[in-house]
Amino acid sequence: VLIVLLGPPGAGKGTQSQLLAQSLGVPKVATGDIFREAIARETPLGVQAKPYLDRGELVPGPITTEMVKSRLQREDCRKGAILDGYPRTVEQARQFDAVLRDIHRGLSKVINIDVPDDELLRRLSGRWTCRKCQSTFHEIFKPSKNVGACDRCGGTLYQRPDDSIEVAQTRLRVYRTRTEPVIAYYQEQGVLVHVDGQQTPDSVLSDILSRVQVVAPS
Ligand code: ADP
Ligand code: ADP
Ligand code: ZN
Repeated sequence: VLIVLLGPPGAGKGTQSQLLAQSLGVPKVATGDIFREAIARETPLGVQAKPYLDRGELVPGPITTEMVKSRLQREDCRKGAILDGYPRTVEQARQFDAVLRDIHRGLSKVINIDVPDDELLRRLSGRWTCRKCQSTFHEIFKPSKNVGACDRCGGTLYQRPDDSIEVAQTRLRVYRTRTEPVIAYYQEQGVLVHVDGQQTPDSVLSDILSRVQVVAPS
C-alpha cells in the first residue's frame, strides 16, 4: 500500500498519516518532518533547507525527490508507506512517477483532504508540534493531556515558527499556485479521491479507509 496525502497546510495530513500508518502497518514519510529533523541536527541538508522553511517557500530542486526515493528503499517501507507533504508540485509528481517505475512500485491512492481557508488558519495558529516525534496537537481542537508535553512520546511541544500568521499565509499562497495543480495531475491518472477534512479526525480516517480498501474481484 502506497498512499499520498494531498491538501493545504493545516488540512490534517500529519494527523491522518499517523492514524493511517498505525492502522495499515506501514511507516509515515513526511518530507516536512525530515527537513525539520535535518535543521535541528544542523546537517548539510538542514542548512540548505532552512531559509525556505523559514519563509514558507518550497525547497527547490531535486533534493526532496532524492530524499523520498532513498527513504522508500529502506527496509521498513517494503510493504509501503504513507506520504505526507510530497509531491508538492507537478514537477515533483512527474519525478515521483519516474522513481516509482525505477523501484517497481505503484500508487494505491492519492487522497485530497479539503478544508476551507479560514479553518486552516485557525488550525495552524493553534497547532503545537512535538520536538521529538512531530505529532501535532491543537490548543482547542486536540489539546494534549499534559500541557506542553506530547501524548505519544512525552516530548516538548512547540509552535512552529512557520505557523505564524504571516508565514502561514505565504504557505497557503504557495499551496494554491504550486500544489493545487497536482490534484488534476492525479485525477487524470484515475487514482484521486476527495475527502471532507472538516469532520472529526476519526470520521476523516474512516472516510479514507473506506476509499483505499480495494476489494479484489472474485
Ligand atoms: P504543512 O504542515 O504546512 O503541510 P510541512 O511540514 O509538510 O507543512 O512542510 C513544511 C515546509 O517544508 C514547507 O513549507 C517547505 O518549505 C518544506 N517542504 C516540505 N515538503 C516539501 C516538498 N515536497 N517540496 C519542497 N519543500 C517541501
Ligand atoms: P497538516 O499536516 O496538513 O499541516 P496537521 O495534521 O498537523 O495538518 O493538523 C493541523 C492542526 O489541526 C493541528 O493542530 C491538528 O491537531 C488539528 N487538526 C487535525 N485534524 C483536525 C480535525 N479533523 N479537526 C480539527 N482539528 C484538526
Ligand atoms: Zn512526541
